[in-house]
Amino acid sequence: MTRPRRFASATLDGHLYVELAYLGAVPPPSDDELSFVLAHELGHLKERHGERALADMGSSDAHIGELQTNNPRVRALAEQAMNATVKSSHETEADENALYAILKCGRSSKGMEEFFRRLEPLDKRSGSAGDSKVFDHPSAASRRAHLRKRLTP
Ligand SMILES: [Zn+2]
Repeated sequence: MTRPRRFASATLDGHLYVELAYLGAVPPPSDDELSFVLAHELGHLKERHGERALADMGSSDAHIGELQTNNPRVRALAEQAMNATVKSSHETEADENALYAILKCGRSSKGMEEFFRRLEPLDKRSGSAGDSKVFDHPSAASRRAHLRKRLTP
């Protein structure tokens, strides 16, 4: 199954995945950057964005339970559909969770800056026909600007 390019993801059954290509990128992500990315995905899990997306699609709790079984085909298809319904408000929420979490861990907000600097050229390359069409993600530039405002007291 083809998957859109991304650095990390969280699945309905609570697993976090980090793409090997991201870990091996040049320059490699710093601990601060990787912490931000992981905290962002954990933010999706904490806020139950996957379940909420499915609920928005009309899935009952029973259906959600079924998706959490071990049938990899069902799970992969459900996650693909779920990703297509990820809301930009969920991204903002996960970003805010991530910034809060990394600062609480004593990490630098530079990790967030590094991540969006890495993401920005990909945004420009994919344009409206790329990932942003599948994932209703706000642009890297607007995500960074939003979090910078959060940093300002
Ligand atoms: Zn996200």
